[in-house]
Amino acid sequence: MRTIYTYLNPMYHLGKKDYSVAIPFFSTILCAVILEFYAYYIAHDPHSIDLYAVFLFIALILYNAFRYGLFGGFATAGVTIAYYFYIIYTRHYSGHQLTSGIQTTIVLGILYFFLAGIIGWLKHTIDSLIEQEADEKKRLEAILQQLPVGIMVTDSKGSVTHSNKQLDMILGRKFPAHFVVGKDTLLHATVEGKSVSPSQGPLAQTFTTGKPVAGKEYTIKRKDGKTVYIQMSASVIRNEQGKIIAAAEIITDITQQKEMDKRKDDFVNMASHELKTPITSMKLYIDSLMTRMSQYKDERATKTLAGIKYQTEKLQELVSNLLDVTRIQTGKLSFTRESFHLNELIAETVEGLQQSISTHTLTYSGKNSVVVSADRFRLYQVLTNLITNAAKYSPTGKDIIIRSKKIDGKAIVSIQDFGIGISPDQQKKIFGRLYQVTDAKERTFPGLGMGLYISKEIIKRHKGTIWVESNKGKGATFYFSLPLQKNK
Ligand code: ADP
Repeated sequence: MRTIYTYLNPMYHLGKKDYSVAIPFFSTILCAVILEFYAYYIAHDPHSIDLYAVFLFIALILYNAFRYGLFGGFATAGVTIAYYFYIIYTRHYSGHQLTSGIQTTIVLGILYFFLAGIIGWLKHTIDSLIEQEADEKKRLEAILQQLPVGIMVTDSKGSVTHSNKQLDMILGRKFPAHFVVGKDTLLHATVEGKSVSPSQGPLAQTFTTGKPVAGKEYTIKRKDGKTVYIQMSASVIRNEQGKIIAAAEIITDITQQKEMDKRKDDFVNMASHELKTPITSMKLYIDSLMTRMSQYKDERATKTLAGIKYQTEKLQELVSNLLDVTRIQTGKLSFTRESFHLNELIAETVEGLQQSISTHTLTYSGKNSVVVSADRFRLYQVLTNLITNAAKYSPTGKDIIIRSKKIDGKAIVSIQDFGIGISPDQQKKIFGRLYQVTDAKERTFPGLGMGLYISKEIIKRHKGTIWVESNKGKGATFYFSLPLQKNK
């Protein structure tokens, strides 16, 4: 029963392009035969079918044109007109009845062919559109399957409509059918050890905010016990009216990259540890050699030794920065807090640095007491880094102004220079690990891009913030804020 219904329903045949002329042709003849049979053997009145013949055949033309296409519709219209002439002939119309019968048949004929043409053309157009869409879908599916990253595409309500093999491989399981974003859970995902609920995933977030989410990293525990690191980016897709019609998510397996990074970090950590001891000994030997050399009053040798000492100290600083970076990475950067006057620390640091920075004039006029509870050495490290950077990146500007003030329970320190400045698009990036601005001019300044990263971590761990205000070519002002010690 169901198959007969499916066969007869023209909707089921849309897009299939199975056009037939024979079926409409013979089905129309069959209808005419049935009508004739009815007129002569059941109604016993050859004229009883006149009106039926009009309505029945209009319906048949519409149906056949929509079911079998343009030529099916024309075949039906043709047979119908022939049948009308047959009626005129067999019912022996004469005189006025004959002329009006012929006229009506011609008018109806034009109408029937017109109807068959329109409906048939509509059917062909719909078929082509459906075919085009199916081809488009196949092409999209093929592209999705070939992509080297995992992909998930949803409809406007968040039900997943497409996913690819790569995604199954990353997840270590077949992607479930009927998955709804924000509702169903796929796997146990964590960020820095904390579980992520389905509504916190990038796709769910992009649906809520309407904004793209880029490069979020998660750790997932697969059913086979393997831990996989993934990076996900998601975005909603809108139509021309701005309405959300779909959303897509890209999932990249970054496990290898993470393992490589870890091996690299381990190596740097090990190498810096190995380097630290010989450098410390070297410095001690140099100091003792310098003491001994002082008796001989050999100016050249003393100068050479001072040069060696300076370079050794630089090396020591580099190794110590490398160690700090790995300590940050492994969460082992520790702090010893004490309560002290930040303004005094700044004044001492500025005074000390002015001895070695002969090219610039450092000014600090902070007289007001600013008391903080922090790691003194680590803050000295931040100040040194910001002030030496200010000097390093100001080959022409000679002044460096350091200020400190108290605002809303916070201490705010600023270091202003009049050097090369930083363009707005680089301002956030410079606080990243090993990040250096790499335009042609910038390359001439030595460095490894560790200073600001370490400074940012130190300030962050003191519940403060660090930021920069600058314009390319117009100098830069670095700021950091720290919570003031209560009641101070
Ligand atoms: P390094 O100085 O060793 O390259 P940092 O982490 O201290 O590393 O700085 C990162 C980058 O930020 C530098 O490479 C430089 O391009 C930029 N930068 C830092 N301080 C300044 C400054 N005062 N003026 C202009 N650019 C700066």
